[in-house]
Amino acid sequence: MKLAFIGTGYVGLVTGACMAELGHEVVCADIDQKKINGLKRGKMPIYELGLEELVSKNVKKNKLSFTTNISKAIKDAEVIFNAVGTPEDKKTGKANLRYVYAVAETFGKNLNGYKILVNKSTVPVGTADQCRAIIEKAAGPTAEFDVVSNPEFLREGAAIKDFLNPDRVVVGVESEKAKEKMERIYRPLARAGRPVMFTNVRSAELIKYASNSFLATKISFINEIANFCEKVGANVKDVARGMGADTRIGSRFLYAGIGYGGSCFPKDVQALIETGKEQGFAFQIIEAADRVNDQQKIIPFEILKKEWKKNFKGKQVAVWGLSFKPRTDDVREAPAISIITSLLKAGAKVAAYDPIAMESFHEAHKELKVEYRHTAEEVLDGADVLLVLTEWDEFRTADLVTIQKMMKGSLIIDGRNIFEREEAEEAGFRYFGIGV
Ligand code: NAD
Repeated sequence: MKLAFIGTGYVGLVTGACMAELGHEVVCADIDQKKINGLKRGKMPIYELGLEELVSKNVKKNKLSFTTNISKAIKDAEVIFNAVGTPEDKKTGKANLRYVYAVAETFGKNLNGYKILVNKSTVPVGTADQCRAIIEKAAGPTAEFDVVSNPEFLREGAAIKDFLNPDRVVVGVESEKAKEKMERIYRPLARAGRPVMFTNVRSAELIKYASNSFLATKISFINEIANFCEKVGANVKDVARGMGADTRIGSRFLYAGIGYGGSCFPKDVQALIETGKEQGFAFQIIEAADRVNDQQKIIPFEILKKEWKKNFKGKQVAVWGLSFKPRTDDVREAPAISIITSLLKAGAKVAAYDPIAMESFHEAHKELKVEYRHTAEEVLDGADVLLVLTEWDEFRTADLVTIQKMMKGSLIIDGRNIFEREEAEEAGFRYFGIGV
């Protein structure tokens, strides 16, 4: 089928390329000329495992193309996926739907026969109804179209694998015609045994927020248990292992640390809380998960405040990891941002290393005077403390004895619990983990 993706970011580019891989004819459109020019030359705007190969393969097969001509992309396609950003409005905590509505309007203005607008972006319950109203206003009351909700569940770092082998595909529809088209689009996945679930539009919209908020809550839950472990001499790694072995609980998302970040959990949790408020509904558990996460992020700074008696002047901090999780260059809402900001404000010097995300971190946070170094070893030179903020594999295999020799001080704050206390202490470190 002829598909258009409007918004060629993490989601639009990955899902667009994967849809081409499934055999559809896909055009990925974006208002960002630089991004599209780069893609036309084969330059990926993001780091994602296997993406460059997938894009280049499908471009060669004429299954995938790129454009800034949004109107034409809409006119030429049968089904249009809305994959623009829905960032948090920092003033209200709500999802900013400006871009989503702009696409709905352009869709309405370019409607030339029955088409479907599929909201793939994460949007609050009721957004499809708003889109429908916008389209009707732009296209007139006789216009024939459907608005479908098809939230995306891919994880950055494993995005292609996740899209092609999803646990489930959720599609919210209000008409048989739209359902049939969506069934055709996802038929290759259904044939491969992947569940494609149809619901009404509002349920599909809510499934995405409920899923992300549940996962965020699971992380905050184990973080709260970790904080209690510190008080009572238990080890959260063992507690989580014991809990996770129960198949009703499961071991995933039970890793204690300095909190969740990224472009989804923080904003989606906030947006659900705000949608609740609009309906006169208070999400008590989810609000608590959000609060716990805020406290979790400041733990490394609080430890240092105590250690250094609030005197950060002349202190050198080595930071390992800037992205919000490994295998991505995405730094949106990464705990590293608030931690480094606090450290610099307090007067410390920060040298940082990340295998992939240094450029994107610098680009997004030019105001932070961080010294970026080329290797994990280089940041250790003259360091009073090592902070591990992202659990990249190359950090896990580091030799603590060697690290200790390269540093000035002997303090390590392992915000992701990648080392063992015993091993760190044997290497001469004073070790702080999270609940271990
Ligand atoms: P992104 O910021 O990487 O990409 C959004 C793109 O949309 C940008 O390239 C921007 O230039 C483009 N854009 C904005 N307005 C436009 C317009 N009017 N016309 C055409 N293009 C326009 O965002 P993302 O991370 O891909 O997220 C997109 C949506 O998917 C969000 O709602 C997000 O919550 C959701 N989501 C993201 C992930 C993830 O892991 N990143 C996973 C699941 C769902």
